[in-house]
Amino acid sequence: MSIHTSIPFLDLVTPHLELEQELTDVFHRALRTAGFIGGPMVEEFESAFADFCETKYAVATSSGTDALRFALMACGVQNGDVVVTVPHTFIATTEAISQAGALPEFVDIDELTYNMDPAKLREYLEMQCAADSSGRLISRRSGRPVTAIVPVHLYGQTAHMDPILDLAGRYRLLVIEDACQAHGAEYFSRKHGRWMKAGSMGQAAAFSFYPGKNLGACGEAGAVSVNDEILASKIKMLRDHGQAKKYYHDMEGYNGRLDAIQAGLLHTKLGHLAKWNAQRRERAAEYNRLLCAANCGVKPPYEPSWSKAVYHLYVVRTDDREGLMHHLKQAGIGTGIHYPIPLHLQKAYGDLGYVPGDFPNTEQAAASIVSLPMFPSLTSDQQQRVVHEIRHFVQSLAPLPVERT
Ligand SMILES: *Cc1c(COP(=O)(O)O)cnc(C)c1O
Repeated sequence: MSIHTSIPFLDLVTPHLELEQELTDVFHRALRTAGFIGGPMVEEFESAFADFCETKYAVATSSGTDALRFALMACGVQNGDVVVTVPHTFIATTEAISQAGALPEFVDIDELTYNMDPAKLREYLEMQCAADSSGRLISRRSGRPVTAIVPVHLYGQTAHMDPILDLAGRYRLLVIEDACQAHGAEYFSRKHGRWMKAGSMGQAAAFSFYPGKNLGACGEAGAVSVNDEILASKIKMLRDHGQAKKYYHDMEGYNGRLDAIQAGLLHTKLGHLAKWNAQRRERAAEYNRLLCAANCGVKPPYEPSWSKAVYHLYVVRTDDREGLMHHLKQAGIGTGIHYPIPLHLQKAYGDLGYVPGDFPNTEQAAASIVSLPMFPSLTSDQQQRVVHEIRHFVQSLAPLPVERT
Protein backbone atom coordinates (compact mmCIF):
# COMPACT_ATOMS: atom_id res chain seq x y z
CA MET A 1 0.00 0.00 0.00
CA SER A 2 1.08 3.51 -0.73
CA ILE A 3 1.70 5.74 2.27
CA HIS A 4 0.78 8.76 0.14
CA THR A 5 -2.63 10.33 -0.13
CA SER A 6 -4.33 9.82 -3.45
CA ILE A 7 -4.14 12.28 -6.34
CA PRO A 8 -7.49 12.74 -8.07
CA PHE A 9 -7.78 13.02 -11.84
CA LEU A 10 -9.74 16.23 -11.33
CA ASP A 11 -10.34 18.39 -8.25
CA LEU A 12 -13.65 20.22 -8.58
CA VAL A 13 -14.07 20.81 -4.85
CA THR A 14 -11.20 23.24 -4.14
CA PRO A 15 -12.24 26.05 -6.54
CA HIS A 16 -15.82 25.94 -5.27
CA LEU A 17 -14.72 26.07 -1.62
CA GLU A 18 -12.49 29.04 -2.42
CA LEU A 19 -15.42 30.89 -4.02
CA GLU A 20 -18.15 29.62 -1.70
CA GLN A 21 -19.25 33.03 -0.45
CA GLU A 22 -19.42 34.65 -3.90
CA LEU A 23 -21.25 31.65 -5.33
CA THR A 24 -23.86 31.49 -2.58
CA ASP A 25 -24.42 35.25 -3.01
CA VAL A 26 -25.46 34.52 -6.61
CA PHE A 27 -27.97 31.99 -5.36
CA HIS A 28 -29.42 34.45 -2.85
CA ARG A 29 -29.70 37.14 -5.51
CA ALA A 30 -31.63 34.79 -7.77
CA LEU A 31 -33.95 33.72 -4.94
CA ARG A 32 -34.78 37.31 -4.07
CA THR A 33 -35.79 38.21 -7.64
CA ALA A 34 -37.11 34.76 -8.64
CA GLY A 35 -35.78 35.53 -12.11
CA PHE A 36 -34.70 31.98 -12.85
CA ILE A 37 -34.84 31.96 -16.65
CA GLY A 38 -33.21 34.64 -18.80
CA GLY A 39 -32.96 38.19 -17.46
CA PRO A 40 -30.02 40.37 -16.45
CA MET A 41 -27.86 37.61 -14.93
CA VAL A 42 -27.85 35.75 -18.25
CA GLU A 43 -27.26 38.91 -20.29
CA GLU A 44 -24.41 40.08 -18.08
CA PHE A 45 -22.69 36.73 -18.34
CA GLU A 46 -23.18 36.61 -22.12
CA SER A 47 -21.62 40.00 -22.55
CA ALA A 48 -18.65 39.12 -20.30
CA PHE A 49 -18.10 35.79 -22.06
CA ALA A 50 -18.23 37.46 -25.50
CA ASP A 51 -15.51 39.85 -24.29
CA PHE A 52 -13.46 36.89 -23.09
CA CYS A 53 -13.81 35.17 -26.49
CA GLU A 54 -13.12 38.42 -28.37
CA THR A 55 -16.38 38.11 -30.27
CA LYS A 56 -19.29 40.54 -30.52
CA TYR A 57 -21.88 38.17 -29.05
CA ALA A 58 -22.25 35.12 -26.89
CA VAL A 59 -25.57 33.33 -26.60
CA ALA A 60 -25.89 31.13 -23.52
CA THR A 61 -27.56 27.72 -23.89
CA SER A 62 -28.46 24.78 -21.70
CA SER A 63 -25.42 22.72 -22.80
CA GLY A 64 -22.48 22.58 -25.17
CA THR A 65 -24.32 20.03 -27.30
CA ASP A 66 -27.25 22.44 -27.73
CA ALA A 67 -24.80 25.26 -28.45
CA LEU A 68 -23.24 23.28 -31.30
CA ARG A 69 -26.58 22.13 -32.71
CA PHE A 70 -28.02 25.67 -32.64
CA ALA A 71 -24.84 27.10 -34.18
CA LEU A 72 -25.00 24.61 -37.06
CA MET A 73 -28.70 25.23 -37.67
CA ALA A 74 -28.45 29.02 -37.43
CA CYS A 75 -25.51 29.06 -39.84
CA GLY A 76 -27.66 27.26 -42.39
CA VAL A 77 -26.79 23.57 -42.17
CA GLN A 78 -29.83 21.79 -43.62
CA ASN A 79 -31.44 18.40 -43.45
CA GLY A 80 -29.43 15.96 -45.55
CA ASP A 81 -26.21 17.99 -45.65
CA VAL A 82 -22.81 16.52 -44.87
CA VAL A 83 -20.76 18.11 -42.09
CA VAL A 84 -17.10 17.15 -41.94
CA THR A 85 -15.42 16.58 -38.59
CA VAL A 86 -12.93 14.26 -36.86
CA PRO A 87 -13.56 10.82 -35.32
CA HIS A 88 -11.28 11.64 -32.35
CA THR A 89 -13.68 13.65 -30.20
CA PHE A 90 -16.53 13.30 -27.72
CA ILE A 91 -19.75 12.01 -29.29
CA ALA A 92 -21.56 15.31 -28.62
CA THR A 93 -19.76 16.74 -31.69
CA THR A 94 -21.48 14.28 -34.03
CA GLU A 95 -24.74 14.18 -32.04
CA ALA A 96 -25.09 17.91 -32.69
CA ILE A 97 -24.41 17.36 -36.40
CA SER A 98 -26.93 14.49 -36.70
CA GLN A 99 -29.53 16.27 -34.62
CA ALA A 100 -29.23 19.33 -36.86
CA GLY A 101 -30.38 16.90 -39.58
CA ALA A 102 -26.96 16.47 -41.19
CA LEU A 103 -24.68 13.50 -41.74
CA PRO A 104 -21.24 13.45 -40.14
CA GLU A 105 -18.31 12.43 -42.34
CA PHE A 106 -14.81 12.14 -40.95
CA VAL A 107 -11.26 13.11 -41.77
CA ASP A 108 -8.31 11.89 -39.71
CA ILE A 109 -6.39 13.85 -37.09
CA ASP A 110 -2.78 14.94 -37.02
CA GLU A 111 -0.86 12.39 -34.95
CA LEU A 112 0.99 15.05 -32.92
CA THR A 113 -1.72 17.61 -32.12
CA TYR A 114 -4.69 15.16 -32.07
CA ASN A 115 -6.70 17.75 -34.00
CA MET A 116 -8.05 17.82 -37.56
CA ASP A 117 -5.22 17.40 -40.07
CA PRO A 118 -5.68 20.12 -42.72
CA ALA A 119 -3.89 17.92 -45.27
CA LYS A 120 -6.45 15.16 -44.66
CA LEU A 121 -9.26 17.68 -45.00
CA ARG A 122 -7.82 18.85 -48.32
CA GLU A 123 -7.49 15.25 -49.50
CA TYR A 124 -11.12 14.60 -48.55
CA LEU A 125 -12.39 17.69 -50.37
CA GLU A 126 -10.27 17.09 -53.46
CA MET A 127 -10.49 13.31 -53.78
CA GLN A 128 -13.70 12.25 -52.04
CA CYS A 129 -15.97 15.05 -53.20
CA ALA A 130 -16.93 16.44 -56.60
CA ALA A 131 -18.89 19.44 -57.80
CA ASP A 132 -22.31 18.70 -59.31
CA SER A 133 -23.83 20.58 -62.28
CA SER A 134 -25.01 23.42 -60.06
CA GLY A 135 -21.55 23.75 -58.53
CA ARG A 136 -22.44 22.20 -55.16
CA LEU A 137 -19.78 20.07 -53.53
CA ILE A 138 -21.07 16.50 -53.28
CA SER A 139 -19.58 13.75 -51.12
CA ARG A 140 -18.97 10.62 -53.19
CA ARG A 141 -19.43 8.52 -50.06
CA SER A 142 -23.03 9.60 -49.37
CA GLY A 143 -24.04 11.52 -52.49
CA ARG A 144 -24.99 14.46 -50.30
CA PRO A 145 -23.91 18.10 -50.36
CA VAL A 146 -21.03 19.05 -48.05
CA THR A 147 -21.80 22.38 -46.40
CA ALA A 148 -19.79 22.74 -43.19
CA ILE A 149 -16.64 21.79 -41.30
CA VAL A 150 -16.50 21.32 -37.52
CA PRO A 151 -12.90 21.48 -36.29
CA VAL A 152 -12.66 20.40 -32.64
CA HIS A 153 -10.17 22.21 -30.37
CA LEU A 154 -9.47 19.06 -28.41
CA TYR A 155 -7.80 18.94 -24.97
CA GLY A 156 -7.69 22.76 -24.90
CA GLN A 157 -5.55 23.24 -28.00
CA THR A 158 -6.94 24.86 -31.14
CA ALA A 159 -6.95 23.10 -34.47
CA HIS A 160 -4.62 24.56 -37.15
CA MET A 161 -7.21 27.06 -38.33
CA ASP A 162 -5.51 29.05 -41.13
CA PRO A 163 -5.35 26.16 -43.61
CA ILE A 164 -8.79 24.89 -42.53
CA LEU A 165 -10.36 28.33 -43.07
CA ASP A 166 -8.50 28.62 -46.37
CA LEU A 167 -10.00 25.37 -47.64
CA ALA A 168 -13.42 26.38 -46.34
CA GLY A 169 -13.15 29.62 -48.29
CA ARG A 170 -12.09 27.85 -51.44
CA TYR A 171 -14.99 25.37 -51.27
CA ARG A 172 -17.48 27.86 -49.75
CA LEU A 173 -18.02 25.81 -46.60
CA LEU A 174 -19.12 27.04 -43.19
CA VAL A 175 -16.74 26.58 -40.26
CA ILE A 176 -18.29 26.04 -36.84
CA GLU A 177 -15.71 25.50 -34.10
CA ASP A 178 -16.26 22.93 -31.38
CA ALA A 179 -14.51 24.93 -28.65
CA CYS A 180 -16.15 22.94 -25.84
CA GLN A 181 -12.73 22.07 -24.37
CA ALA A 182 -10.88 25.26 -25.28
CA HIS A 183 -12.11 28.32 -23.32
CA GLY A 184 -9.32 30.86 -23.71
CA ALA A 185 -7.04 28.81 -25.98
CA GLU A 186 -5.25 30.91 -28.59
CA TYR A 187 -4.11 30.38 -32.17
CA PHE A 188 -1.56 32.49 -34.01
CA SER A 189 -3.10 33.25 -37.36
CA ARG A 190 -0.42 34.17 -39.89
CA LYS A 191 -3.18 35.38 -42.14
CA HIS A 192 -4.31 37.96 -39.57
CA GLY A 193 -0.84 38.41 -38.09
CA ARG A 194 -2.08 38.02 -34.51
CA TRP A 195 -3.16 35.64 -31.79
CA MET A 196 -6.85 34.76 -31.96
CA LYS A 197 -9.10 33.24 -29.32
CA ALA A 198 -10.72 29.84 -29.75
CA GLY A 199 -14.30 30.53 -30.75
CA SER A 200 -13.56 33.72 -32.67
CA MET A 201 -12.34 32.24 -35.95
CA GLY A 202 -15.26 30.46 -37.61
CA GLN A 203 -18.82 31.63 -38.37
CA ALA A 204 -19.76 30.54 -34.86
CA ALA A 205 -18.38 28.35 -32.07
CA ALA A 206 -19.79 26.16 -29.32
CA PHE A 207 -18.58 26.12 -25.72
CA SER A 208 -19.57 23.73 -22.95
CA PHE A 209 -19.68 24.67 -19.28
CA TYR A 210 -20.08 21.11 -18.08
CA PRO A 211 -18.65 21.10 -14.52
CA GLY A 212 -15.32 19.51 -15.50
CA LYS A 213 -14.53 21.95 -18.31
CA ASN A 214 -12.01 24.81 -17.80
CA LEU A 215 -15.00 27.06 -17.10
CA GLY A 216 -17.67 24.88 -15.53
CA ALA A 217 -21.15 25.60 -14.23
CA CYS A 218 -22.60 23.94 -11.14
CA GLY A 219 -24.74 21.91 -13.51
CA GLU A 220 -25.28 21.89 -17.29
CA ALA A 221 -24.55 24.94 -19.45
CA GLY A 222 -23.10 26.07 -22.77
CA ALA A 223 -22.78 29.03 -25.12
CA VAL A 224 -22.31 30.01 -28.75
CA SER A 225 -19.80 32.75 -29.54
CA VAL A 226 -20.50 34.61 -32.76
CA ASN A 227 -19.73 37.94 -34.46
CA ASP A 228 -22.77 38.22 -36.72
CA GLU A 229 -25.79 39.92 -35.19
CA ILE A 230 -28.35 38.07 -37.33
CA LEU A 231 -26.80 34.71 -36.42
CA ALA A 232 -26.84 35.68 -32.75
CA SER A 233 -30.55 36.47 -32.90
CA LYS A 234 -31.32 33.22 -34.75
CA ILE A 235 -29.51 31.26 -32.04
CA LYS A 236 -31.49 33.14 -29.38
CA MET A 237 -34.70 32.10 -31.14
CA LEU A 238 -33.60 28.49 -31.50
CA ARG A 239 -32.91 28.20 -27.78
CA ASP A 240 -36.28 29.75 -26.90
CA HIS A 241 -39.02 27.93 -28.86
CA GLY A 242 -38.44 29.96 -32.02
CA GLN A 243 -39.73 33.15 -30.49
CA ALA A 244 -38.16 36.61 -30.55
CA LYS A 245 -41.23 38.00 -28.80
CA LYS A 246 -43.20 35.98 -26.27
CA TYR A 247 -45.78 33.71 -27.97
CA TYR A 248 -44.90 34.95 -31.49
CA HIS A 249 -43.19 31.88 -32.98
CA ASP A 250 -41.50 32.54 -36.34
CA MET A 251 -40.38 28.91 -36.38
CA GLU A 252 -40.17 25.88 -34.12
CA GLY A 253 -37.27 26.03 -31.74
CA TYR A 254 -36.13 24.18 -28.64
CA ASN A 255 -36.06 24.56 -24.89
CA GLY A 256 -32.35 25.25 -24.73
CA ARG A 257 -31.95 28.25 -22.46
CA LEU A 258 -29.45 28.78 -19.66
CA ASP A 259 -30.72 29.14 -16.08
CA ALA A 260 -30.06 32.54 -14.52
CA ILE A 261 -28.44 30.90 -11.48
CA GLN A 262 -25.94 29.04 -13.67
CA ALA A 263 -25.21 32.26 -15.58
CA GLY A 264 -24.49 34.05 -12.31
CA LEU A 265 -22.24 31.26 -11.07
CA LEU A 266 -20.41 31.18 -14.42
CA HIS A 267 -19.97 34.95 -14.39
CA THR A 268 -18.32 34.74 -10.97
CA LYS A 269 -16.03 31.93 -12.08
CA LEU A 270 -15.23 33.63 -15.40
CA GLY A 271 -13.35 36.26 -13.39
CA HIS A 272 -10.87 33.55 -12.40
CA LEU A 273 -10.59 31.72 -15.72
CA ALA A 274 -7.49 33.50 -17.08
CA LYS A 275 -5.63 32.72 -13.82
CA TRP A 276 -6.81 29.09 -13.83
CA ASN A 277 -5.75 28.67 -17.47
CA ALA A 278 -2.32 30.14 -16.67
CA GLN A 279 -2.00 27.67 -13.78
CA ARG A 280 -2.89 24.80 -16.13
CA ARG A 281 -0.20 25.97 -18.57
CA GLU A 282 2.35 26.07 -15.72
CA ARG A 283 1.37 22.56 -14.61
CA ALA A 284 1.71 21.32 -18.21
CA ALA A 285 5.17 22.86 -18.52
CA GLU A 286 6.13 21.17 -15.24
CA TYR A 287 4.89 17.76 -16.45
CA ASN A 288 6.81 18.26 -19.72
CA ARG A 289 9.99 19.02 -17.77
CA LEU A 290 9.56 16.06 -15.38
CA LEU A 291 8.69 13.57 -18.14
CA CYS A 292 11.60 14.71 -20.25
CA ALA A 293 13.99 14.34 -17.30
CA ALA A 294 12.54 10.91 -16.45
CA ASN A 295 13.35 9.80 -20.00
CA CYS A 296 10.91 6.90 -19.71
CA GLY A 297 9.47 6.84 -23.21
CA VAL A 298 6.11 8.34 -22.21
CA LYS A 299 5.39 11.04 -24.76
CA PRO A 300 4.19 14.46 -23.55
CA PRO A 301 1.70 16.47 -25.62
CA TYR A 302 2.92 18.57 -28.52
CA GLU A 303 2.23 22.30 -28.61
CA PRO A 304 3.09 23.90 -31.95
CA SER A 305 4.51 27.46 -32.06
CA TRP A 306 1.14 28.73 -33.31
CA SER A 307 -0.69 27.44 -30.25
CA LYS A 308 -1.27 28.59 -26.67
CA ALA A 309 -3.15 25.62 -25.27
CA VAL A 310 -5.19 25.80 -22.05
CA TYR A 311 -4.74 22.11 -21.15
CA HIS A 312 -8.28 21.05 -20.44
CA LEU A 313 -6.59 17.65 -20.44
CA TYR A 314 -2.93 16.66 -20.24
CA VAL A 315 -2.64 13.66 -22.54
CA VAL A 316 0.45 11.48 -22.90
CA ARG A 317 1.14 8.44 -25.06
CA THR A 318 2.58 5.13 -24.01
CA ASP A 319 2.90 1.59 -25.38
CA ASP A 320 1.35 -0.18 -22.40
CA ARG A 321 -1.51 2.13 -21.60
CA GLU A 322 -3.64 -0.36 -19.67
CA GLY A 323 -0.65 -1.45 -17.57
CA LEU A 324 0.29 2.14 -16.77
CA MET A 325 -3.26 3.07 -15.80
CA HIS A 326 -3.50 0.02 -13.57
CA HIS A 327 -0.19 0.87 -11.88
CA LEU A 328 -1.22 4.49 -11.30
CA LYS A 329 -4.56 3.37 -9.92
CA GLN A 330 -2.78 1.11 -7.41
CA ALA A 331 -0.70 4.13 -6.42
CA GLY A 332 -3.88 6.15 -5.83
CA ILE A 333 -3.48 8.33 -8.93
CA GLY A 334 -6.51 9.02 -11.12
CA THR A 335 -6.28 8.86 -14.92
CA GLY A 336 -8.68 8.80 -17.88
CA ILE A 337 -8.88 7.96 -21.60
CA HIS A 338 -10.20 10.65 -23.94
CA TYR A 339 -11.43 8.77 -25.89
CA PRO A 340 -11.03 4.97 -26.03
CA ILE A 341 -13.27 4.17 -29.04
CA PRO A 342 -13.08 6.45 -32.11
CA LEU A 343 -16.49 7.66 -33.24
CA HIS A 344 -16.32 5.89 -36.61
CA LEU A 345 -16.04 2.57 -34.75
CA GLN A 346 -18.82 3.23 -32.23
CA LYS A 347 -21.88 1.02 -32.43
CA ALA A 348 -24.03 4.15 -32.75
CA TYR A 349 -22.32 4.91 -36.07
CA GLY A 350 -22.31 1.40 -37.54
CA ASP A 351 -24.66 2.68 -40.26
CA LEU A 352 -22.05 5.13 -41.52
CA GLY A 353 -20.13 2.14 -42.87
CA TYR A 354 -16.63 3.00 -41.70
CA VAL A 355 -14.23 0.17 -40.84
CA PRO A 356 -11.10 -0.24 -38.69
CA GLY A 357 -8.12 1.18 -40.56
CA ASP A 358 -10.07 4.10 -42.07
CA PHE A 359 -8.45 6.65 -39.74
CA PRO A 360 -5.10 5.25 -38.58
CA ASN A 361 -3.92 8.30 -36.60
CA THR A 362 -7.17 8.37 -34.64
CA GLU A 363 -7.11 4.62 -34.03
CA GLN A 364 -3.47 4.61 -32.90
CA ALA A 365 -4.12 7.55 -30.59
CA ALA A 366 -7.21 5.91 -29.09
CA ALA A 367 -5.14 2.82 -28.28
CA SER A 368 -2.21 4.59 -26.61
CA ILE A 369 -3.35 7.85 -24.98
CA VAL A 370 -3.85 8.41 -21.27
CA SER A 371 -4.85 11.61 -19.51
CA LEU A 372 -2.93 12.46 -16.33
CA PRO A 373 -4.30 14.49 -13.40
CA MET A 374 -4.68 18.11 -14.54
CA PHE A 375 -6.41 20.96 -12.70
CA PRO A 376 -5.37 24.45 -11.56
CA SER A 377 -4.73 23.48 -7.92
CA LEU A 378 -2.48 20.52 -8.83
CA THR A 379 0.84 20.91 -7.01
CA SER A 380 4.38 20.36 -8.16
CA ASP A 381 4.80 17.73 -5.42
CA GLN A 382 1.80 15.82 -6.73
CA GLN A 383 3.19 15.98 -10.25
CA GLN A 384 6.57 14.68 -9.09
CA ARG A 385 4.79 11.73 -7.54
CA VAL A 386 2.82 11.05 -10.72
CA VAL A 387 5.98 11.04 -12.82
CA HIS A 388 7.87 9.03 -10.20
CA GLU A 389 5.18 6.34 -10.44
CA ILE A 390 5.25 6.44 -14.24
CA ARG A 391 9.01 5.90 -14.23
CA HIS A 392 8.65 3.17 -11.65
CA PHE A 393 6.16 1.35 -13.90
CA VAL A 394 8.20 1.73 -17.09
CA GLN A 395 11.33 0.44 -15.34
CA SER A 396 9.42 -2.56 -14.01
CA LEU A 397 8.62 -3.50 -17.64
CA ALA A 398 12.17 -3.34 -18.92
CA PRO A 399 14.39 -3.68 -15.86
CA LEU A 400 17.72 -1.98 -16.23
CA PRO A 401 20.64 -4.42 -16.06
CA VAL A 402 21.44 -5.00 -12.41
CA GLU A 403 24.97 -4.10 -11.51
CA ARG A 404 26.80 -7.00 -9.95
CA THR A 405 29.14 -6.42 -7.12
C1 LIG B 1 -18.08 18.54 -23.43
C2 LIG B 1 -18.06 18.50 -24.91
C3 LIG B 1 -19.19 18.72 -25.70
C4 LIG B 1 -20.59 18.81 -25.17
O1 LIG B 1 -20.81 19.64 -24.14
P1 LIG B 1 -22.04 19.36 -23.10
O2 LIG B 1 -22.07 20.65 -22.35
O3 LIG B 1 -21.65 18.20 -22.26
O4 LIG B 1 -23.26 19.14 -23.90
C5 LIG B 1 -19.03 18.79 -27.08
N1 LIG B 1 -17.83 18.60 -27.66
C6 LIG B 1 -16.73 18.36 -26.94
C7 LIG B 1 -15.42 18.17 -27.65
C8 LIG B 1 -16.80 18.27 -25.54
O5 LIG B 1 -15.70 17.99 -24.84
